Amino acid sequence: LSDPSAPLPSTDQRYDGGSHDLNTPVKNLNPLGLPISKRDSLLEKCAMFREAGGTLSRQPSQDNGLDGPFSSGASKLEQVKLMPPAPNDDLASLSELTDSSLLYEMQKRFGNDQIYTYIGHILLLVNPNKELPIYSTLVSQLYLSSTGRLCSSLPPHIFSSAERAYHMMLQERRPQCFILSGESGSGKTEACKHIVRHLTARSSPKGFALEPRMKHVNCILEAFGHAKTARNNNSSRFVKLLTIQYCDKRRTLLRARVYTYMLEKSRLVHLRPHQHSFSIFYLMAEGLSPEESSALYLNNVLAHRYLSGGLPGESPPVATASAQSRERLAAVKQALRALGFNKQEVDSVFMLLSAVLHIGDLRFTALTDADTAFPSDLQLLERVSGMLQVSPSDLSTALTSDVQYFKGDMITRHHTVEMSEQYRDQLAKAIYGRLFSYLVNSSNDYLQGQDDSIGDPALEIGILDIFGFEEFQRNGFEQLCVNMTNERLRQYVSEVLFQQEQAECLQEGIAMETPHSPGNQPAVLDFFLQRPQGLLCVLDEESQSLRPAEQTLYKRLSAQLDSSPTHGLSLTTKDGNGNPPPKDQGPAFTVSHYVGQISYDLTGSLTRNKDSLPQNLLFTMKSSESVLLQQLFQSKLTQTGSLVPAAQSRAGLRGPKAALLLHRMPSASLVTANTVPQQPRRYHDLTKILKKKGSSSFLQRLERCGPITVAVQLRNSLSEVISKLQACTPHFVECVRPNGSGQPDSFDSFHVSTQLQYIGVLEMVRMIRYGYPVRLSFQGFLSSLMNQAKLLESRRLSQDPRLQDRHTGQQLCSVLCDTRPIILSSPFQ
Ligand code: ADP
Ligand code: MG
Repeated sequence: LSDPSAPLPSTDQRYDGGSHDLNTPVKNLNPLGLPISKRDSLLEKCAMFREAGGTLSRQPSQDNGLDGPFSSGASKLEQVKLMPPAPNDDLASLSELTDSSLLYEMQKRFGNDQIYTYIGHILLLVNPNKELPIYSTLVSQLYLSSTGRLCSSLPPHIFSSAERAYHMMLQERRPQCFILSGESGSGKTEACKHIVRHLTARSSPKGFALEPRMKHVNCILEAFGHAKTARNNNSSRFVKLLTIQYCDKRRTLLRARVYTYMLEKSRLVHLRPHQHSFSIFYLMAEGLSPEESSALYLNNVLAHRYLSGGLPGESPPVATASAQSRERLAAVKQALRALGFNKQEVDSVFMLLSAVLHIGDLRFTALTDADTAFPSDLQLLERVSGMLQVSPSDLSTALTSDVQYFKGDMITRHHTVEMSEQYRDQLAKAIYGRLFSYLVNSSNDYLQGQDDSIGDPALEIGILDIFGFEEFQRNGFEQLCVNMTNERLRQYVSEVLFQQEQAECLQEGIAMETPHSPGNQPAVLDFFLQRPQGLLCVLDEESQSLRPAEQTLYKRLSAQLDSSPTHGLSLTTKDGNGNPPPKDQGPAFTVSHYVGQISYDLTGSLTRNKDSLPQNLLFTMKSSESVLLQQLFQSKLTQTGSLVPAAQSRAGLRGPKAALLLHRMPSASLVTANTVPQQPRRYHDLTKILKKKGSSSFLQRLERCGPITVAVQLRNSLSEVISKLQACTPHFVECVRPNGSGQPDSFDSFHVSTQLQYIGVLEMVRMIRYGYPVRLSFQGFLSSLMNQAKLLESRRLSQDPRLQDRHTGQQLCSVLCDTRPIILSSPFQ
């Protein structure tokens, strides 16, 4: 511990081992004192095979020495290439490491298809961008461990990390979580699938069969929540936390649950040139049969404005039918059926998607006598209304006007063309976003597992997969949200890996150098998240103001930066001469993120930040005859956030007073105004609902309710995700992109080196060497030690008075030194 230059014990030694296994009576011991299991004999076979030539092949008839879930997978010949274990499998055990030697090691390993490397218990993954035969059931089976040790006789693997998390969950009786980080296209989402594959493959066949269900759920999440970007053809456009629960008593897999956050809905309505919307639309464009297309009124899917990017003067792209898209579309339909949708319901999902595309084509014209908007194409309005199953006049009125209440009277406020266009886009986003949430909810019902297990106490492993860091030529509000999420998560990783580790060592009296943790996160995060001057707060206030102006946003941000200069941040203007931007242009600025400097241009962010639907549009959607649409717009209190503030601002009131007003508002006076005949009835229904819910808890909710904006959701989601992570023991997977183009077998040294530096690989290695190599609770350590002492028929260690109470790290070390003969002959080595 005191000599950081000394090579560390191998990874296997540094894992504390599963003490629960050591407590079980041992009948049959191998030379290390560990029970010989069938799996061990398989490992021995592997070792023999590797020694013989490094390639393990298995014939269908060959006895693999295993029963249970894996035997069924032995039906076809599988070739598994496993590299022999190498000293550079764990960077923390290399005696000398510099930036260049690290890069050299990584390049060498990548050239040998060794895509995984350990840094202690942290797993480093370099995306191979090609299929490797290392994820089969057989390989999963090799990594099964009776103790959860990282298996030093096998090369580093994501299955090994999954195995370790599983055992730590049982041992610590605490939820575990995987935190996958890395830039977009670095392999996080695939790694998430591999973790799930191992965890489901290792569970008993009596448990819940998760894997086939996960396939359906992934298929839906990827179709509706992923999009092709310049960096990744299948890029996640939301944050996903997947949790897998195990029965505490029986240790069987019980159920899984997906939490999704921050779906990038703006992608649907603001598509920049050469960008793609959500994958499902392209699957429809290339995979729908001519009959299906005509039933959905989709002659040329890509010609719809939301998909064509609305480029003036450019002829719309025409999709070419593709067999692959047809197959993937069929898989989406099959997945929906598996989730319990009947044929008609599947059809209504696609009808709704088509309606969203048609909504995007609605345009408005200003009436000559006033600045008020009117739908330009009444035929299109009829078609959209037909698809949504709402009255065309209701839809038209709701898109072009809103109602306000003043002293008990209802006043109709007409929108301008620009406002109507904004509401049109908000409607499309709301329908798509709610459809996505609805599909996630249905997926969770499908992943619920056996009913009889609902009351059982459960242990849990979570896997957090986020949208990775992005930098394009022009980075707008969306990139800001994505990168801020990454920045916050990196701060959490640094806290755990660097700050907590340092604090712990200092507390225990261990002398150490302080490795520097990379990044500039506190300053950057303050600039974004601080209240009340942080960018998100300022953005929210400006979006809600009566006359939102991007120039005001610029002025407020520059005033803030002038008063407290934040390291690494500077506001810039597009003309480069320091003048504020023109009225319709937002601020541009450069941020020193932990990955490097990124420039943002927030033009249009005030509109993009809005995410609540005006009340009359909401009521129109609720009045739909379509069962699906009704379900999407069901009035759950969590979804009424956008209703209540609207009511508050109408009444000019805040908090409980506004609620009381809603309760007392005489429905008769509402019915007298007949401009929008559907709404008073709906409004009356609403007040009835509110009356029913008018308990104090509702009033409290109302107090907390603020305007629903993207910024508010981002902040809330970030704090929810982080607090979920804080309740778990973390496991880190750092993903690296080998090159910028997504090519296989191409290692761009500069690109990789940048990533290794900002991940802080060298700092991690240093930290692991300086810090504790073994992590055990004192009780756990003691009981393992006692078991070993018993095993070796020596009571000396267990009677050592220094082990009777909690002691400092140094005292423990001295005990270990005193008892070296026993320790060295125990399985701890
Ligand atoms: P991220 O989620 O980090 O943006 P993905 O997991 O979507 O990245 O990976 C991008 C692409 O890289 C995948 O579509 C796949 O083609 C490839 N890829 C990622 N991980 C692996 C892997 N372990 N083996 C083979 N290909 C991979
Ligand atoms: Mg992803």
